[in-house]
Amino acid sequence: MRRTNFNYRQLAVLAARTFPLIWGLVCVAVWGCGSKPSPRLYRRSQLLMGTLVEIKVVTDHQEKADRALEAALGEIKRIEELMSRSRPESEIWKINHSAGRPAAISRELASLLEDARKIGESSAGAFDVSIGALSLLWGFEEGNRSVPPTPSELAQASRQVDYRKIELLSGPQVVIPPRMRLDLGAIAKGYAVDCAINTLQSYGLTGALVDAGGDIRVIGRRADGKRWHIGLQNSRDRDKISATIRLADQAIVTSGDYERYFIYQGVRYHHILDPKTGYPARDCQSVTVLANTAAKADAWATAIFVSGLEKGAELASKVSDIEVVIVDITGKIHYLSPALEGRLQIAQEGSG
Ligand code: ADP
Ligand code: MG
Repeated sequence: MRRTNFNYRQLAVLAARTFPLIWGLVCVAVWGCGSKPSPRLYRRSQLLMGTLVEIKVVTDHQEKADRALEAALGEIKRIEELMSRSRPESEIWKINHSAGRPAAISRELASLLEDARKIGESSAGAFDVSIGALSLLWGFEEGNRSVPPTPSELAQASRQVDYRKIELLSGPQVVIPPRMRLDLGAIAKGYAVDCAINTLQSYGLTGALVDAGGDIRVIGRRADGKRWHIGLQNSRDRDKISATIRLADQAIVTSGDYERYFIYQGVRYHHILDPKTGYPARDCQSVTVLANTAAKADAWATAIFVSGLEKGAELASKVSDIEVVIVDITGKIHYLSPALEGRLQIAQEGSG
């Protein structure tokens, strides 16, 4: 009994003596950690390519973040200046304004046109960057139409659309038929996102997200070490999220009938056009594609959207290295790649 009492007392004395020492060590440890800045998120956004571009980077250096963000936004601006169909002096503008004659282009554009040709072929012409005459007629980019074009106007414009007539020559140069117009609207934004990511990587950044109006690519992790959390917008209520997914080192792009549209006599006319009919593609509300690059995801989202439910699902399961969600015109998921089952979290009805 005495012995036990003695031990307790000794223990209490020992604790009282060592407590300040332990606290001292803890404080030194915390102080030590505090002196090394921990990684945090830096972000910047700008209106580019007709949409809001937002870039987030994870780093422990404010200055490094500033320089990388500036350069990545500059890169997106460079792609806009190269590939916009409406900006005078862009390479696409020059090709369109010298239709019928060879136009000198950069290797970069030649290589993207070659990628676009392959996707045109693999999608049986559903994806077609020679869609420009139709885009111009519908005028979604210009926002100047509230009534659909007439069937004869559409038939005439559709005749100018055929990616197989785009001739890529050495030089490199490109020739298109006299009345054809190129429009990279379905791939350029994704490509610009990839260029921005490459730029961030060249600045040594390993955690970043680039979002060009829903064309998103991420690398690495967030500041808290977790994967990036991406929300997919509800097609009919833009304030709501219909699903979420966690990503690291992947791109995710959605093509939807809600981006640019007008309603005429109760019918929705939107900007994703079926080159075969000249009218907006009818079967889908949205198609989301995940791929290793945003350009690939962007192009295939449009290609599958235009292909419709059956052919779209066939392509989604056939094309290598893409994962796909096809939402039909009633808002139901028509197709979900097996790799996304359990990964895509469908939001509860009414979540904001
Ligand atoms: P968003 O521009 O909203 O991201 P998309 O990536 O689907 O949507 O691209 C739609 C744009 O692509 C249209 O505004 C038009 O410029 C062009 N486009 C429309 N239909 C096609 C098509 N069938 N193939 C290739 N490009 C298309
Ligand atoms: Mg696209």
